[in-house]
Amino acid sequence: MTTPDQPKRLPANYQLVYDVVRAQEPGLHAPAGDIFTRAKALKASLGYSTVYRALDRLCKMGLVLELHLPGMNAALYEQARSGHAHFVCRSCGRIEDVDCDVPSDAIHSFVRGRDGEVEEIILTVHGRCTACRLTAPEPAGERGGDRSIES
Ligand SMILES: [Zn+2]
Ligand SMILES: [Zn+2]
Repeated sequence: MTTPDQPKRLPANYQLVYDVVRAQEPGLHAPAGDIFTRAKALKASLGYSTVYRALDRLCKMGLVLELHLPGMNAALYEQARSGHAHFVCRSCGRIEDVDCDVPSDAIHSFVRGRDGEVEEIILTVHGRCTACRLTAPEPAGERGGDRSIES
């Protein structure tokens, strides 16, 4: 998995949406509504459905990553880049990028061994962030499941 290069040619509206996502500070994840607001500021005639379709398309092209996190009803978007997982704080909902090498080769061969096909690998780590741990320490002897994948 590598970060895709700028594709040769995108329709103008898609390019605009892509630029908006790329302009986002690394580590930030925005819902479609925010991306729409920012894109519309650049081009007033843009409709929500165009932005939404562009995001969908950019995700399928592997340029944008769509994140569905447990407990959040809206998907979040960021520029696709390889080798990162997400840490989600259970208490405040803060999301952080975790630079790590997801063992995608192992996952691919596992799934292929079962005649399956991997579409995407999204690793989410759940726990509590520093601020939450400092303000509300967990009772002694109890440590929440720090790593789980739920839906
Ligand atoms: Zn927190
Ligand atoms: Zn991320």
